[in-house]
Amino acid sequence: MQLHPQKRSKVPAYLNAVNRLRIVKIQEIMGESPTVKTFTFRDKLCGRAEPGQFVMVWIPGVDEIPISLSTITPNGLTSITVAQVGEATKALHQRKRGDLLGIRGPYGKGFTLTSGNIMIAGGGTGLVPLMPLTEKLVKLSTKLTFLLGAKTKDELLFLDRIDQTLSKVNAEIVAATEDGSYGLKGIVTDQAEQRLAKEKFDMIYACGPEQMMYKMFLLAERYHMSFQASLERIMHCAIGLCGSCVIGKLRVCKDGPVLNSEQLRSVKEEFGKFKRGFQGRKIAV
Ligand SMILES: Cc1cc2nc3c(=O)[nH]c(=O)nc-3n(C[C@H](O)[C@H](O)[C@H](O)COP(=O)(O)OP(=O)(O)OC[C@H]3O[C@@H](n4cnc5c(N)ncnc54)[C@H](O)[C@@H]3O)c2cc1C
Repeated sequence: MQLHPQKRSKVPAYLNAVNRLRIVKIQEIMGESPTVKTFTFRDKLCGRAEPGQFVMVWIPGVDEIPISLSTITPNGLTSITVAQVGEATKALHQRKRGDLLGIRGPYGKGFTLTSGNIMIAGGGTGLVPLMPLTEKLVKLSTKLTFLLGAKTKDELLFLDRIDQTLSKVNAEIVAATEDGSYGLKGIVTDQAEQRLAKEKFDMIYACGPEQMMYKMFLLAERYHMSFQASLERIMHCAIGLCGSCVIGKLRVCKDGPVLNSEQLRSVKEEFGKFKRGFQGRKIAV
């Protein structure tokens, strides 16, 4: 059907381009841990992404999955960092330099940048979207407390990158592992609690397993501090239509994935408790 010229979609050209599948060539692959790899490619639109936004990555012949950007540079050199958990991520891990991937996006609402005294708490692959965020915040913060955690030393991501990024600013880096194989023995939320009890932070950013983010949210509420977290849900369309990522009245792909304290309060019946499975049924987190 031919649309009347005046009735054509008013969607800005930029958004049309974002939704178009682009084919990118993998330029570099780096092992981050026994189960996590970083894939680098070039894409102009990703160069304009906000920290916390994600792309839909199409692995030809397998599936399309949501993945956060782990590196964002204005010239378009981009990376994603992916844990092998199932079919699509296993197929991605088998890809070699020079292989092709499809991407669309960047999608969603990223982190809102703040200045002042900042806490960042990340666990496992939750550290991925926190890396480009940290690289922006070093120019704005007066002090940065970076808490990172994992089950074991092998699974702690980006240690060198965090050290390097924070080397020239007023920062404290605290690593914790559950088995004590690196840094402090224990979990990130315990470290956060000790600091929140005696210091005022202007913003707390978190990304990691949902129980960890939920605990961080409760701590932020208890100590009356502002909070943002990046949530994970099953996503298919990534543009707010299919409903697979719904939490309360919010769609994580469009209203998030980064949600602030006010938004999280509005979904507190589900946040930290339920998510939707591939069939749309609520399942315990
Ligand atoms: C906005 C967003 C950003 C993400 N960013 C990253 C990232 O930067 N790096 C990364 O490694 N992963 C990220 N994920 C998770 C990633 O999308 C899933 O791990 C991936 O879709 C799994 O696909 P699969 O086919 O390999 O596994 P499947 O075979 O589909 O699933 C295997 C198991 O993985 C788990 N799983 C599947 N999908 C999800 C999901 N969406 N969220 C949480 N667990 C899931 C389930 O427990 C499932 O049983 C992100 C998810 C979202 C929603």
